[in-house]
Amino acid sequence: MKKAKNKHDTNSVVEKLYSIGQASRKLHLSSPTLRMYEHHGVLIPYKTKSGRRYYSDADIERVQCMRHMIKDVGLNLEGIRRLFALLPCWEIKQCSKKEREHCPVYLDSSKPCWTFKRVTCRKDSMDCKTCEIYLMSSTCTDRLKTILRGIGYLQAE
Ligand code: SF4
Repeated sequence: MKKAKNKHDTNSVVEKLYSIGQASRKLHLSSPTLRMYEHHGVLIPYKTKSGRRYYSDADIERVQCMRHMIKDVGLNLEGIRRLFALLPCWEIKQCSKKEREHCPVYLDSSKPCWTFKRVTCRKDSMDCKTCEIYLMSSTCTDRLKTILRGIGYLQAE
């Protein structure tokens, strides 16, 4: 197990990181499955310059949540991706009208914001790993509903 300082964390908390083999054993999933989640844009692992992937406890929880959505809620990966794409980052981050007009995420709701190549709110995908929008999507569907209702994006039942 590797321990690394999270460069995005202002308190410099040391995070435990697991290799893809360790993470897949913890999750009872294969390594290709974890890579597939990344390929579908629903998971962002830490990556070294040489391309080696590492996963934090938060990543493990995120995958467990997605497994719950697949096994118990009946979603597939595309469904999960579409669900994440519904998170209105421009509302939550209170982007101006002008920023929205030029933002590809605002104009295309088919994929999550962190999968877009050119957005002004970040330099690289690692910035998204600690962003509130990405972290919100780590919560399971029921909690997501509560969040969306809280910002008035979904009507109360
Ligand atoms: S920083 Fe990343 S996750 Fe956050 S709103 Fe921008 S693209 Fe989305």
